[in-house]
Parts: sequence; C-alpha cells; structure tokens
Amino acid sequence: MKAISLKYSLMILLAGTFSLSSCESSSDLSSGILARMVTSDNEGTTTINSDDLKSVTTGTDEITAEQIEWLKFMREEEKLAHDLYLALSTDYTTPVFTNIARAEQNHTSAVLTVLTAYGIEDPASSESGVFTNPDLQALYNTLLAQGKVTLIDALKVGALVEETDILDVADVYAGTPGDDLKTLAEALMLGSRNHLRAFNRVLKANGIVYVPVALEQTDFDAIINSSWEKGTGLCMLTGKGTGGQYLCGTGTCINPGGRGFRGGRKS
Ligand code: MN
Ligand code: MN
Repeated sequence: MKAISLKYSLMILLAGTFSLSSCESSSDLSSGILARMVTSDNEGTTTINSDDLKSVTTGTDEITAEQIEWLKFMREEEKLAHDLYLALSTDYTTPVFTNIARAEQNHTSAVLTVLTAYGIEDPASSESGVFTNPDLQALYNTLLAQGKVTLIDALKVGALVEETDILDVADVYAGTPGDDLKTLAEALMLGSRNHLRAFNRVLKANGIVYVPVALEQTDFDAIINSSWEKGTGLCMLTGKGTGGQYLCGTGTCINPGGRGFRGGRKS
C-alpha cells in the first residue's frame, strides 16, 4: 500500500514528458571539453574532473535569478542522491550504492565549483540527510524510508532519482544558459544517464523489469539500450534563442521539456 501511494504522489511531482531524436551535429563543448572532463568506469560510476571543470568555468557569463536557483537546487539534489545512496549502502551488499554515492559526491562538488565561481551562497548542509530546501528534505525522508523496505525498493528509488535528475538538470535549458552552465548540465546529465543504466542493470539481474516513473518509456528505453557514456560521442545542438536545446547521449538527443523534482516544486 505504501509503495502505491508513494508512486502516485511522486507521479504528481514528476509528471512530464520529453522526447528523443537523432543527433545531427556536435559542438565544441562535447567534442572538446566534455570528452576530457567526464570519465566513467565499467560500473557506470561517472566522475567529473574538478580541475578541468574549474579551468573551463569562467564565472563571467550572464546569469539570471532563475539560473541561480537552478544551481542551488542542483547542489542539493546531487547531495540528496549522495546521502540517500550512502544511507542505503549500509542496508544492502550490492556495491552499486557505494559506487554511485562516490560519483554523486563528485557531482555536488562540481555544482559547488560553479556556485563559487559566481559568488553564490552554498545552500548545502555539511550534515548527511539534511537539506535547506524543504521539498528536498521531505523527498529525502520519503525515499529513504521507501528504500529501506527491500533491496528492490532501494534500486527502484535509485532509478527514480536518476530519472528525475535528468529532468531537473534539463530545466536549465528553459532559459538561455551560458557555456559554464551548459558544461555543468551536460556533465551532470551524462552521469545520470549512466547511473540510470547502472540501477536498471542491477534491477534486471534481480529479475525486475523497471517501469520508468518520470521519463517516457521510449526515452527510458533509448537510454538503457545504449552503452555507458564516457564523455565522448556526445553532441549538443545549441540553437540559442530557438528553444531547441538538446542534450545528447550516444546516438540520441534529449529535448528537455519535462518536469522533475524541481519542476514539481515550482508548480
Ligand atoms: Mn549526479
Ligand atoms: Mn546520479
């Protein structure tokens, strides 16, 4: 009963859509900086090289109030993923939670790098499981309780967080982000696609066919049926001012238009 009510409440939070289409071109961001900046191991644990990120973050792009809010939100959402997976790693022996928690620590630090470059106050608490954003606090509490029920529940919580992270990262493309934000967003999203693949793989190994909650089935399928991304083979179609921003995985592009935790928070 608990699982069902959680699912429906999350669906209200997460309802949204986005679509995939083929990549047509690559940009400097993907072929240069990102190819070097993001690495992934054979478990899908995806790491952003902080020195590389610092070296390409100017801190001088025009930044809107909404983009500042996005940065602060993503700082805490990546921390939520870290704190949640770390907490769940004490309940289950599968290494997936520890491995991905390590990557999420790196991701929340990557967001901090950009926050710092723009002189924005860091909202993140140093305490595990504690969040400034009340919606993220409530979500953390709910997801942790759900994840503690069984291993399968915990893996599904992981997949849900990754689905949602993809949508929340994509939120930044609703505006016209500068290269600093685009670089960060593309790296975070690549990580989330890999983490979604990783959780889905363990679910599959446990005989579970995961049904996406936040993503459209076709978009989810396009991600899980493609291989780990290692920061190469990406493309980004920019088209500033057209509203046509795409973030691309191997052979697929994601057109963000959905609503994640962040979208749910705002509606
Ligand atoms: Mn992440
Ligand atoms: Mn992740």
